[in-house]
Amino acid sequence: MIARRALLATGAAFVLLPKASADVLRKDEDPRISLRGSYEQGGLLIGKVAPGIPVEIDGQPVHVTSQGLFVFGLPWDGEKPIRVHAAFADAPDYEDVVQPLKRQYDIQSITGLPQEYVEPPPEVLERMKREREAIWTARQADTEGVGFFEPLEWPCAGRLSGVYGSQRILNGKPMAPHLAVDVAAPEGTPIHAAADGIVMIADDYHLEGGFTLIDHGHGVNTCYLHQSARFVKAGDAVQQGDVIGHIGMTGRATGPHCHWGLNWFQMKLDPSRATKMPEPPTA
Ligand SMILES: [Zn+2]
Repeated sequence: MIARRALLATGAAFVLLPKASADVLRKDEDPRISLRGSYEQGGLLIGKVAPGIPVEIDGQPVHVTSQGLFVFGLPWDGEKPIRVHAAFADAPDYEDVVQPLKRQYDIQSITGLPQEYVEPPPEVLERMKREREAIWTARQADTEGVGFFEPLEWPCAGRLSGVYGSQRILNGKPMAPHLAVDVAAPEGTPIHAAADGIVMIADDYHLEGGFTLIDHGHGVNTCYLHQSARFVKAGDAVQQGDVIGHIGMTGRATGPHCHWGLNWFQMKLDPSRATKMPEPPTA
């Protein structure tokens, strides 16, 4: 603590300022710690420190692997700086600030949805609540997996039909923002695991349709919605690129597509900012 105060008092703390591109691999000026990933709202940041060094994000300890890897996300609407702190036993602490880069989001209007999906009847509300709770619980897992460390693969070939952050107006009714991406492709197109991990949920849900949620370690998870077929079950280990299902339009969907989500615990991030390639391969 004393070391950290001294560091701050001398003005030696580094403040990370955005460089020309928000998506490039970058190393801080301090060689003891590095961060890479997107600094935009909805970005996933992956850090590396010397093994055994405890790290806090905004005052909360995060899981650090035996190799010194850790991860955290930037909220879709977050504007305040996020503090990264690492405590070194034999040297001054490291204190850093990540300033999320503000984004402009679209407005997307979708019509023609069956009204039961926009204003669900009372008899399905209980089911939806159970399913929401199952998803919430799965996303609380903080496992040892390190699948999050490799950049993500797009889950399927197709056309980007929905982007992250759009304000959604469904059948004329304003809804929550779309905190995922949609890839449209013909029904039956294979869907692949975006990264190595363990299947936490594979089930048929009301809004989500054919639904799979994969844990990639340290609170990072991806989900795949509206599948017409599912080929994995809860507990299965998958590798990046494994076929886990088929594109469909089950649940709340107006056409065949994969709604693909990326989370850090309950925080919904933009998977398109964590992929190797900026857009899905064309079919
Ligand atoms: Zn979607």
